Amino acid sequence: MSNIEQTLSIIKPDAVERNLEGQIKEIFIRNGFRIIEEKKIQINKSEAEKFYKVHETKPFYNELCNYLSSGPIVVMKLEKENAIFENRELMGSTNPKDAKEGTIRKKFGLSIDKNSVHGSDSLENANIELDFFFKT
Ligand code: UDP
Ligand code: MG
Repeated sequence: MSNIEQTLSIIKPDAVERNLEGQIKEIFIRNGFRIIEEKKIQINKSEAEKFYKVHETKPFYNELCNYLSSGPIVVMKLEKENAIFENRELMGSTNPKDAKEGTIRKKFGLSIDKNSVHGSDSLENANIELDFFFKT
């Protein structure tokens, strides 16, 4: 049975700043993702805090929210069979040092915090995160 899903991908400030937007999108397309909607925006700190609310108790929360709001990001609604899992696989581990060869974070990630991309981690969070950026 087919299981076409949509997931949220973000090209984070470190990658936009290094002009990696085109190369990262090309990797998604080459791996069978369709970019259904996309926009380049900059969010403010309180929006970043809302987006990353699941992490509010973590020691890195404040820095994470400063970082996500520090410059332009590209948010994309991606679609593919099993898109949520497939995107997590293609992104690689949170820490680029642990990410497998061929993953986006291995190729472009700078550090555990500046790891170039975000991807929803579950169907529930994909729907919440897509609504956050694309709800009309
Ligand atoms: N992060 C960080 N320090 C850590 C763990 C995570 O700065 O020790 C940042 C990193 O940018 C990561 C984000 O917080 O992408 C969200 O963390 P999560 O554990 O959800 O990782 P992800 O789902 O992005 O792989
Ligand atoms: Mg996560």
